[in-house]
Amino acid sequence: MYQNYIDGSWVGARSGRTFENRNPANCDDLIGEFQDSTADDVDAAIAAATRAYERWRLVPAPKRAEILFAASRLIEANKDALARDMTREMGKVLEETRGDVQEAIDMTLFMAAEGRRMYGQTVPSELRDKFAMSVRQPMGVCSVITPWNFPMAIPSWKIAPALVCGNTVVFKPATLTPLSAVNFVKILEEAGLPRGVVNLVTGGPDVGTRMSTHDDVKVVSFTGSTAVGRIVGQNAAPTFKKVHLEMGGKNVVMIMDDAKIDLAVEGCLWGGFGTTGQRCTAASRVVVHERVYDVFVREFVARAQELRVGDGLDPRTQVGPSVSQAQLETVMKYVAIGQEEGATLLAGGHRLETGPYARGWFHEPTIFGDVDPRMRVAQEEIFGPVVSVMRCRSLDEAIAIGNDVAYGLSASIYTQDINKAFAAMRDIYTGIFYVNAPTIGAEVHLPFGGTKATGNGHREAGTAALDVFSEWKSIYVDFSGKLQRAQIDS
Ligand code: NAD
Repeated sequence: MYQNYIDGSWVGARSGRTFENRNPANCDDLIGEFQDSTADDVDAAIAAATRAYERWRLVPAPKRAEILFAASRLIEANKDALARDMTREMGKVLEETRGDVQEAIDMTLFMAAEGRRMYGQTVPSELRDKFAMSVRQPMGVCSVITPWNFPMAIPSWKIAPALVCGNTVVFKPATLTPLSAVNFVKILEEAGLPRGVVNLVTGGPDVGTRMSTHDDVKVVSFTGSTAVGRIVGQNAAPTFKKVHLEMGGKNVVMIMDDAKIDLAVEGCLWGGFGTTGQRCTAASRVVVHERVYDVFVREFVARAQELRVGDGLDPRTQVGPSVSQAQLETVMKYVAIGQEEGATLLAGGHRLETGPYARGWFHEPTIFGDVDPRMRVAQEEIFGPVVSVMRCRSLDEAIAIGNDVAYGLSASIYTQDINKAFAAMRDIYTGIFYVNAPTIGAEVHLPFGGTKATGNGHREAGTAALDVFSEWKSIYVDFSGKLQRAQIDS
């Protein structure tokens, strides 16, 4: 039984209810029971965070950062165990969950270093004997609502910058990955975070709703689906919270006729089937120049059919299960839709449910060919091991197809022609772009996020994250001893 963490204590939900967390590779494996919290628990957490804020905001940023630094060392020391817990609760292979934990280490270190930077500006005043500067100020209680596909990385992207800026946090992880959240918060506790500064409340939409409506919350940082992000935005609007939304994707790889096809195949396998396709940046669309379409498809299909599907804890596994029965059903629904729409099923297409797969949510890596860009499998986020391959006749057509979706997270091009690479870099309207690499692989010191239905203009990671969790204050110090009027006196 795992508990909420409120005001420095591990406590049960007031409802007394719990929910189960099970291994998606083997649903007989019960990972634990977690608190099924309600608005009351959120209120207690927000009250604790509000009290803690008055002390935490006055702790010098380099001191706040020392706690983050200690946390990064603790995550590092426990990396393997944390990764194993994560694979068990959400299925992705151990190599990738180690990467997820590494990202939390990197982000925590990056933000610890910001404790000694957090630069503002010192600028000349237009008036004599006047000093002008800008500083970042914290905002108060931040609600952090996260999805299940990066159970430690994404919480760290939000919590580390929120803390270094001097805010306090109420954190709600996805119901499918509460163990990694508990593990992360335990490490923050062990690193010496004062009570009330981070509070963990597990549970579903009721918890998230309270966290996005409560008067005392100043920032809501949400990562998840576009449908839920829209609700969060609407819920938070009446109280003018700063709302940071990172949502769905339908990312494209464009393969030109001069591309190194082996490299492109390698990239599409990793981008399309890594994390079982359950990445917001997954390469779920591939647009291939007609001159190399056949050779690319032949190789891509052959290699996809060789991928080893299985339990992520087995080091030989390359593709783990879908995270849940519901997610597997979504994958199966879209495989049927693709066939009804007239796309050609080139690989996979079936659930795996016998032998070692009998107790889990496994699906074959699936490729659709001859996809029309208007088909639903080319437009809608599936979030599973399904890739739609389309033809194009030119770079312009590839870019037009690439841009013609509701989302704008990540895109990539494979080409040896620098002119094509730069044209695509400019004309694709996404928040992330890769050349000769797949659509996944973000590093923590660059801004992360997307355009259109993927995001609302903010960015996670890098120093851009500081903008989410702080507000600017411009300060003017007049040392002339008289009234000096800007724009009027000279
Ligand atoms: P989801 O939208 O179902 O849930 C996200 C979080 O919101 C969970 O913690 C959930 O419990 C909570 N929630 C549900 N209803 C809520 C409500 N009414 N109010 C407040 N919170 C509520 O998403 P998911 O299935 O956990 O994750 C998959 C989605 O996340 C995909 O669409 C994926 O593209 C997206 N994602 C985006 C990024 C990004 O950075 N753009 C990164 C990872 C995942």
